[in-house]
Amino acid sequence: MLVDSHIHTEVSTDSKMKLEEALACADKLGIGLTLTEHVDLGYPDKTMFNFDYDDYFARYGDYRSDKLRLGVEIGMETAYTDANRKIAESHPFDYVLGSIHIVDGIDIYQEEFYRGRPKQLTYGRYFQSMIDCLKSDTYIDALGHIDYISRYARYDNTEIDYNAFRDYIDEVLHLVVEREIALELNTRRLYVAPQSAYMLDTIFRRYEELGGSLVTIGSDAHKTEAVGWSIKDAMALVDRWGLRPVYYENRRPRDMK
Ligand SMILES: [Zn+2]
Ligand SMILES: [Zn+2]
Repeated sequence: MLVDSHIHTEVSTDSKMKLEEALACADKLGIGLTLTEHVDLGYPDKTMFNFDYDDYFARYGDYRSDKLRLGVEIGMETAYTDANRKIAESHPFDYVLGSIHIVDGIDIYQEEFYRGRPKQLTYGRYFQSMIDCLKSDTYIDALGHIDYISRYARYDNTEIDYNAFRDYIDEVLHLVVEREIALELNTRRLYVAPQSAYMLDTIFRRYEELGGSLVTIGSDAHKTEAVGWSIKDAMALVDRWGLRPVYYENRRPRDMK
């Protein structure tokens, strides 16, 4: 069964999607889901981007099945490494996805991060913080959306040019390989920015060259229309790259067919 391993329901601060709505979509598509609710301890507004973990398992635990697994998307920042590890290890998550959303204390969704700063600098900071986190945050199962910055950067061309950032990207990929974690293929930009496919193609081919194997596929859906976005196209890409598509159950990779 195909599994969309990146789904936000209303447990996440920025989603209103009900679990039942997400499950109905998945049923229609004949796919399974892994929830990845947001935790970003460094988010400036401390009332946002965290949730009650016990309540999450109490509320959704009965729905756990072959079609639904319960995970978390942890926003990585070196200042929160210990706290994040504790969250990942103290609760029975199926899957812990580690993502970079905040760099140098600024949510990179914000224009402020880019104002008056060249792309080489902001993207360099983004990748450096990914490297620093991968070195210290050893509790994750997969690295989320490596192309996240391309969604929100304020430049004419926001795509990641592999040649311009080769040293950073290679170090990130080496760390993913060394840690034996998965690299997430986030399908959001395959769908809304199909021109990004070439960039992902370059990065994932390089991952394979460096000995990479595990890939999870996730839509990052915050609404029903996005559940399962481009998941079949993503499977075809992973196949073409000769990589291994997986989802996680009880923190262990399982092959997706
Ligand atoms: Zn994310
Ligand atoms: Zn997400």
